[in-house]
Amino acid sequence: LKIIEEGKVKIKFPDFDKVSSDAPVFYNPKMEFNRDNSILALQAYQKEVDREINICDLFGGSGIRGIRYKKEIEGVGEVSVNDISPLANEFTRINAELNDVEVNIDQKEANIELRTNMGLFDVIDIDPFGTPSPFVDSAAYNLKRDSLLCLTATDTSCLSGTYPEPCIRKYNAKPYKSEYYHENGIRIIIGFAALTLAKYQKHIEVKMSHSTEHYMRVYLKIIKGSKATDKSLKNIGYISHCKNCLYRTESHGLATSVPDICPECGEKLVTAGPLWLGPIQNKEFIESMIEIADEKELNTKKKVLKLLNSCKMEADAPATFYDIHKICRSLKISAPKLDLVFDKLKENGFYAVKTHYSPLGIKTDASSRELIEIVKELAEEVENK
Ligand code: SAM
Ligand code: ZN
Repeated sequence: LKIIEEGKVKIKFPDFDKVSSDAPVFYNPKMEFNRDNSILALQAYQKEVDREINICDLFGGSGIRGIRYKKEIEGVGEVSVNDISPLANEFTRINAELNDVEVNIDQKEANIELRTNMGLFDVIDIDPFGTPSPFVDSAAYNLKRDSLLCLTATDTSCLSGTYPEPCIRKYNAKPYKSEYYHENGIRIIIGFAALTLAKYQKHIEVKMSHSTEHYMRVYLKIIKGSKATDKSLKNIGYISHCKNCLYRTESHGLATSVPDICPECGEKLVTAGPLWLGPIQNKEFIESMIEIADEKELNTKKKVLKLLNSCKMEADAPATFYDIHKICRSLKISAPKLDLVFDKLKENGFYAVKTHYSPLGIKTDASSRELIEIVKELAEEVENK
């Protein structure tokens, strides 16, 4: 057996060589960051609704997530930890006792757990192996007014456009590979969730989302009402992209026409979607998470705060971003310092912020043509010095 410490808990599980779905009971130390950030998000959500919240940790593994939620979040009522594996359940029992917390333990297939406990949870956390897509419909059925849906996806290669077919199969959406593929992936997951929820007259407000290492994570608040749901679906649409000149454009609406040819250079455009074009970061919610971080003991706090501050800045930014190296490669020039590009964009009256997706990323309302001009000018200035 192995025992580890994370947050305020100690967790035991059978030792294994390599983190994989073959481990007898799943525990991934790399996900501590995801769990730390989740604690802040769930606490911010609890503060927002200002009542006791019941949580469902649908894929419990060692129980670490649910046990940490119970121990480290204030205002938590019941926590249900579910896992199809009897051994995982056994360890959740051992770990709950070890940490002196009470959780309900269920051993059901995730969809059955959700279908048979409709409306019982304020938070449903879906942290499966790979894709959450086969469980979103049951969550959509289960979730009540003002509840919170948290989704982790580790099938990032399909969402990023490396393998389009599995993305179409799992998320009913077409991806493409570009400098902002992680963000497109997040927008595909959210779009898929929004369309699934719409069947149940529910729609979403995205509270926070991030792409970190090998996974993507989204926090969605559920709102009810058919009319408002219809309106919210205007946030579903497509992004079309020119691989030649980096032009990109959005088309709103599910059954809408999308442009085929780049208006800048005449090349054929590639299109991703349907995906979520609405906001994917909520400034007030993220500010609340940042404030709450002060009160919590988290090993990854510094890294979490860096992410949160970046996501907060991205809240008002456009849906895609540029990569300075990619621009310079296509222009066959050496890259100017990123900060100079930001200064110049702002000098010219454009909006420009960095992004957590990439250290080379620039989120701006300048068009690709305008940005390329600025980069060229800067490169010339550097050369002439
Ligand atoms: N949330 C955990 C954490 O933070 O450490 C990790 C969960 S692990 C990625 C996925 C777990 O889901 C495994 O323990 C596995 O036994 C369980 N599982 C896989 N398929 C399932 C299903 N259809 N229904 C319920 N549990 C399932
Ligand atoms: Zn073009």
